[in-house]
Amino acid sequence: MRNKLRLATVLVGLSLLLAGCDNNPAPTDIILKGKTMGTVWRVTLSGVSAKQGAQLNSLIQAQLDADDHEFSTWKQDSRLSLFNRSTSLAPQPISYGMAAMISSALRVGRLTAGAMDITVGPLVNLWGFGPQSMPTHTPTPAQINAAKAEVGLQHLTLIENSQGTYLQKNIANLSVDLSTVGEGYAADHLARLMEQQGVRNYLVSVGGALISRGSHQQGSAWRVAVQQPTDLQNRAQIVVDLQGHGISTSGDYRNYYELDGKRISHIIDPTTGHPIDHHLVSATVIATSALEADAWDTGLMVLGTEKAKAIALKQHLAVYLITREQGKFVGWASPTFTTFLSKSQQ
Ligand code: FAD
Repeated sequence: MRNKLRLATVLVGLSLLLAGCDNNPAPTDIILKGKTMGTVWRVTLSGVSAKQGAQLNSLIQAQLDADDHEFSTWKQDSRLSLFNRSTSLAPQPISYGMAAMISSALRVGRLTAGAMDITVGPLVNLWGFGPQSMPTHTPTPAQINAAKAEVGLQHLTLIENSQGTYLQKNIANLSVDLSTVGEGYAADHLARLMEQQGVRNYLVSVGGALISRGSHQQGSAWRVAVQQPTDLQNRAQIVVDLQGHGISTSGDYRNYYELDGKRISHIIDPTTGHPIDHHLVSATVIATSALEADAWDTGLMVLGTEKAKAIALKQHLAVYLITREQGKFVGWASPTFTTFLSKSQQ
């Protein structure tokens, strides 16, 4: 049976997760929440009135709906779906928002030697994690090779010049899947909305991507718990002070199913064409934007523990990995990540 719980609850405000807390934010904090992009969004605000909160709620939902209609591969009429269906090899105009997302994804794609690959959609669909139905049998090597022929960052060019921003494919069947960076982009976009609306203290999350600014009503920093990688329990593994940064977690313990006796993860290794199958169960990244954190976490998951550690050290990334070793969860924090650990844990 397919377990399609989202990672939305992996990273939540400290007040929700830490044992002993009463699950309540500070009395004058306002929590707004709703649904978008097959997951949930949540915005916690300090220093705004209930009336302003209600107005912001409408603006937030409208902006997320607009993002969804532009970037979704689940909606046939989205801007991205139109690009994907087009067989034209000519450059096609895209928004600055989509260009920002693709630029970040391509950069991380290069730095992970193609482990993070936003053209992976045909393989994601083949293994049953796109809008299409799940397979009833393990895909054959021929099916996997056919899907792989339509995958590869070398087939995609982002053009940014004084005329605008454009996307070009060099094979007609290429498609772009922004599922892995969409939540991070949407979280940053909400943060910009808060700034435009004069809100200076907020914690926003879209699915497993968060970004914050300022402090909550009690004057302390926004702290976020990284959850233990279990299917159902909400237990904190570690707690971090975001210090105005973005954070995102990717893992294979919530979005999976079993097929022919094997656990099938939603994260696909584009090199093999198969779902990942190793001991790394989650990768959490803190970066200056939620988009950047969201782009890195999936790439690190594909690479596996040792390569992920090496790249985190080489690129000075703030990374927290959880591996499964002899039935236990073992955490590893890169030196940059330790600077974000909540004081009591350093
Ligand atoms: P992440 O680890 O951040 O990303 C994993 C996802 O990225 C996989 O599920 C796969 O889609 C893709 N992927 C797999 N391997 C790779 C790889 N090697 N490189 C790059 N990408 C890879 N879900 C629904 O169920 N219904 C919807 O209507 C829906 N609409 C969406 C609309 C938008 C605009 C976006 C961005 C996403 C939507 N989703 C929808 C997907 C969903 O909300 C999550 O974004 C998705 O499941 C991945 O989020 P994650 O944080 O769990 O995993």
